[in-house]
Amino acid sequence: MNGRARRTPRYITTHYANRGTRFLVFPQVRSLSAFRTPETIHLAARPGTIQAGPRDAQMSVVDALGKRPYFSDGVQHASPPYRGPRSRRPARPQRGHFDHIRPVPATAREFSAATVYAVIRLTLMVWEHYLGRPVRWYFRRAFPRLEVIPHIISGTAYSRPGYIECGVLRRGRRVTPLCENFDIVSHETGHMILRDVIGHPSQPQSVECRAREEAFADIVSMVTLLHFRKVTTHVLRQTHGNLFSRNVLSNLGELSRTRTIRRAFNDSALSTLDWDPDPDAFKYALAAPLTAAVFDILVDMYEDALVGRGAIRRKLAQASFDSLGREQRDVQRLFDEAYRRRAPRFEEALIEARDRFGFLLARAWRRTSPYDLYPTVARTLVEVGAEMGGRPLARTVRDALRFRDIVPAPA
Ligand SMILES: [Zn+2]
Repeated sequence: MNGRARRTPRYITTHYANRGTRFLVFPQVRSLSAFRTPETIHLAARPGTIQAGPRDAQMSVVDALGKRPYFSDGVQHASPPYRGPRSRRPARPQRGHFDHIRPVPATAREFSAATVYAVIRLTLMVWEHYLGRPVRWYFRRAFPRLEVIPHIISGTAYSRPGYIECGVLRRGRRVTPLCENFDIVSHETGHMILRDVIGHPSQPQSVECRAREEAFADIVSMVTLLHFRKVTTHVLRQTHGNLFSRNVLSNLGELSRTRTIRRAFNDSALSTLDWDPDPDAFKYALAAPLTAAVFDILVDMYEDALVGRGAIRRKLAQASFDSLGREQRDVQRLFDEAYRRRAPRFEEALIEARDRFGFLLARAWRRTSPYDLYPTVARTLVEVGAEMGGRPLARTVRDALRFRDIVPAPA
């Protein structure tokens, strides 16, 4: 059993070309020069089936005007459906598609609405594939539909029962709508996927369980990002195939200040964390070693695939490890050389690793319960590794976790 029971499209973003519905998405912040123009993606829905809004049977984007957050200062003031003033120009399809709505001032609001919808749907599509079943809203008893508000008066994005709503990030004179930030929206969708698969009790959860969800939500957005060809080619060109480095993949949500702590390529380990009495802050610090360990597993799988394809030597894969966030110069030189000669094999290896990794996580999450702490989560990951890749993969998983002092609970 190699975990590839279902055939995975090379890139889900383009797999439904000719039969899906088109949208425009910025996979990374558009201030990065490689991502200045948006990518066309195809959602798995026949043209004409997604209504203006956009809106479908499970979710609806509501372009509210001057709305304050439903939740602030620890209090839920109101909940969906939103009944206040809204834009008179919702995002409307043209011949069933939404990719005519450009990110230009004249259609800025419509673009926000269309693109946030597309990123949520895309994230669901990718993970429904690895999970092998549709995701259902964990809050469906109270709210049958997810309400998405692209613009609220706030500096944060909220994902709470029944809704996702996004503020704006102000940096000097630059104002970035969070709803157009791929990492943030995909991460928030990740929370909803994890709560459906793992469960979401109404009783308070310990900070470690909340940290686990933060780490895995980052992984959800990272794997979704790897379904853009533009991203895989960019990340490989940028690093010459050495993924243990700072790159668009490992620096999740890099340009949003509050989230820089969650770098997948980071030097955190459980034993070196600084405790913070504020649980809302500490959960991010506690998430970092788990995000990093799981990222290390992905990179190890990828290097294995490189060796399997004769793109690099086993010796280089062994010499290359996450040196706690520091780049290794001699390793980089060898990668430069291998990449110059055999670049196409690197893309193949990354796709293969992405899918094995996606299936591994999906299977581990299905076996996780809401109150599982790190040692139990680690044991589950090692067990699934053993089932999918025998002893070598189990060892890879265990080593990556141990390196961050996340020690698997005894079986
Ligand atoms: Zn989060």
